[in-house]
Formats: sequence, C-alpha cells, structure tokens
Amino acid sequence: MNVIVIGGGIIGAATARSLARRGLSVVVLERGRNVGGTSSGGEGNLLLSDKGPGDELRLTQYSSTLWPIVDAELRDELGPGFPSVEFERKGGVVVSTTAAGAQPLLDFAATQRAAGVVAHPLDVAAALELEPHLNPAITAGVHYPEDAQVQPVIMTEALIASAKRSGAWFFENEPALSGIRNPAGDLVGVRTPTRALYADAVVIAAGPWSGSAAEALGVPLPVKPRRGMVLVTSRMPHRIFHKVYDGDYVSAVGSSDAALQTSSVIETTAAGTVLIGSSRQQIGFDSRLTVAVLRELAQKALRLFPFLSEMSVMRSYGGFRPFMPDHLPVIGADPRLSGLWHATGHEGAGIGLSVATGALLADLMTGATPAIDAAAFSPARPSLAPYLGAVAA
Ligand SMILES: Cc1cc2nc3c(=O)[nH]c(=O)nc-3n(C[C@H](O)[C@H](O)[C@H](O)COP(=O)(O)OP(=O)(O)OC[C@H]3O[C@@H](n4cnc5c(N)ncnc54)[C@H](O)[C@@H]3O)c2cc1C
Repeated sequence: MNVIVIGGGIIGAATARSLARRGLSVVVLERGRNVGGTSSGGEGNLLLSDKGPGDELRLTQYSSTLWPIVDAELRDELGPGFPSVEFERKGGVVVSTTAAGAQPLLDFAATQRAAGVVAHPLDVAAALELEPHLNPAITAGVHYPEDAQVQPVIMTEALIASAKRSGAWFFENEPALSGIRNPAGDLVGVRTPTRALYADAVVIAAGPWSGSAAEALGVPLPVKPRRGMVLVTSRMPHRIFHKVYDGDYVSAVGSSDAALQTSSVIETTAAGTVLIGSSRQQIGFDSRLTVAVLRELAQKALRLFPFLSEMSVMRSYGGFRPFMPDHLPVIGADPRLSGLWHATGHEGAGIGLSVATGALLADLMTGATPAIDAAAFSPARPSLAPYLGAVAA
C-alpha cells in the first residue's frame, strides 16, 4: 500500500513512522520545512490532568501508555548521537488560586479518578512540599503523577528520522496543490508544483492548515487556527519541578470562545528555561505577538510563582492550534471521498496525542483492531455532520 501524508509536523511524522514500520510505502509532502508549523510553536506538555472523562481522555490515556515505549524505541534506534527528546514523566500540579475555585478543582479531579486518571488531592502544605516556591496563597491543589513533558521539535525530528529508517520519504518545499481522481472519482494521488504522485491513500496531517489542504483536494473540513503565545525566561537553577497550572486553564481548553483567554501553565525545560503559557484566541492566521497578551500571561504566572518577578524574559513565540468545533481530532477515512484519510484537528494536545494518532491510523489503514474504539474520532461522527459539505468535482 502506498500512502501520501500531507504535512511534516509531529502528526505527519508520527503517522509516517507508524505506517512505515507496518511496511507501507510512505511519502510525506511538506510545503515548507519539516517542523516549521505549529509543532515548533507550542510547548511539550503531555497532559491527562486537563482532560475530563470522554473520548479525548481515552485517546490521551492510550497515548500515555505509548510514550515510554516510543521514547525507548527512538533511543534504541537513533542511538546516543541523536539529541534527547527530553521525555520526562515529571507529573503535574494543578492549583486553584481563589476560594471559589477550590471545590470545582477537587470535583473535576474526582470525575477523572473515576475514569482511571491518577489524581491525588493536595492541601496547601502538601502542594508546597511538591513545589516549595509556589505561592502559599493557593487554595487547593491536585497532583497528577502521569503528566509528562517532551521537547516537541526534537521529538518531531526523531519521529522523522525513525520513519526514514523504516523507508519513508520526506519531501520539503513540496506543497500538495490538488488531488488526482480516477474516472470513478476516487482520490488516487496528489499534484505538487514539480510532480504528480499516485497513492492508495492520502492522509491530511496539515495541522491548522488542514482546512485549506482538504479544500485543495475537494472537501470542506472545519479546522481553524486558534492562536497561542508563550513566554520563555532566561535559564535558572530548577525551582519548578512539575507542570504547574491554574485550574482555570481547563475551562479555557474546553471553551469554543473566539475571544482572548489566558491561563497559567508553567514548567521548567531540561535546559533550565521556564516556559510560561498560554493564550487562546481565534484571530485567523495573524502571527503578530501582542504585548497585552504577553503581559497577561506574565501577571498570571506571578500569581503562581512570585519569584518569577525577579527573572528576565528571554523571548516569546507563538503558534496556531488546529481547532475543531467539536473539540476532538479527526482520525480516520473520509466517508465522502474514497482514498482520503485524516489525522488532524488536535488543537492544544497534538504533541501529546501524536503517538496514539499514528498508531490508531496505522491500525485503521491496515485493518488491524485498534487498541481503542476509533469511532469517536471518525470524520463520519455525528457532531461533525453540520460542518462537512459535499465533495467538489
Ligand atoms: C502556544 C501553543 C502551545 C501548545 N502547547 C501544547 C502542549 O503543551 N502540548 C500539546 O500536546 N500540544 C500543544 N500545542 C498544540 C500542538 O502544538 C499542535 O496540536 C500540534 O503541533 C499539531 O501538529 P500538526 O502536525 O497537526 O501540525 P503542524 O505542526 O502545524 O504541521 C502541519 C504541517 O503541514 C504543512 N502543510 C500545510 N499545508 C500543506 C500543504 N498543502 N502541502 C504540504 N504541507 C502542508 C505545514 O507547513 C506544517 O508544517 C500547543 C500549540 C500552541 C500554539
């Protein structure tokens, strides 16, 4: 089976790796440079803590079981000469900063526990034992030992290197411009500026640009960009030991509001910089960094870790999350156009969900039984029906 994957971000890379390791012949088309999209514009949180019971949590739990396996495989395959992907299951600490926020945080954790997430309630003293530099004015906390972290750019590069070792081809500066159809109307390939490539299947993994990639192939897909910005401090001795965030982040993640939302998500990288995220805003592909947004991020970070006021910010950056109106990624065959598949729409969780997405898609394509029920992620799911129009000729 020959497969073309459109997009060389973490989802395209993970998908190519999984398919190539099953013996499929894979070509990845990237219109710019690999890892030039959102996978280089975000953080590397692999979080169960921000997901309530439901389909996305199931996919995250599956991914969480795969991460240590894939990490070990990559180290084994690529050897010590390849930079570390910095996978670390350092755990998360979610706190409330108001009296009113404490009970909802603990109630949410109880629903997660019922769904199999490890979530230990913390009083203020216990939270300060885990994070001694945390603001003692917090009102409650929950410890999530399964939360983890990875360096997303190196991880994507490692997945690409591994996919290539299994025979996948990655073409950079090679945009997919249009689809090739056979007389029956099936999708049988893709045209780029330099070539016509034929395949049994075409996978759209174009992140926030998946809507336009799908349109180029003749089908509507409601993926929209949801802007996010991050602050990076100068390096410092480690004083933040977990992923630490304010409980109001969970409602920002789940909301469909187009207006600006900010909430504190703070972690130290292996190098000693502190990442301070993040904002959410639907403003199209406007890539300008906004001082007002960055100021709000900084202010909220100080509420959690007052010592950060003495630290300097080294840089800031941002990216576009691939937002779906029903808050679930699209993974599977498109019922409208034979030959078309999707692996996209992961919004703010695409780094964490990448390895599960690759594995799930490979199972579906090869006819293997998926490790989890994939129906909820199918493009044919009822919640997407209002957004999927007809196939263009
Ligand atoms: C501020 C911020 C913080 C985030 N933090 C986290 C986090 O902590 N944890 C987490 O799990 N996720 C996080 N995310 C989300 C995560 O970054 C994304 O979900 C993930 O990177 C999406 O990967 P992707 O491969 O789908 O998209 P991308 O990395 O954008 O890759 C898509 C690629 O497709 C290419 N492309 C587009 N159109 C075409 C075409 N026609 N032909 C060929 N190539 C094409 C693009 O050039 C691009 O390289 C964050 C995002 C942001 C913005």
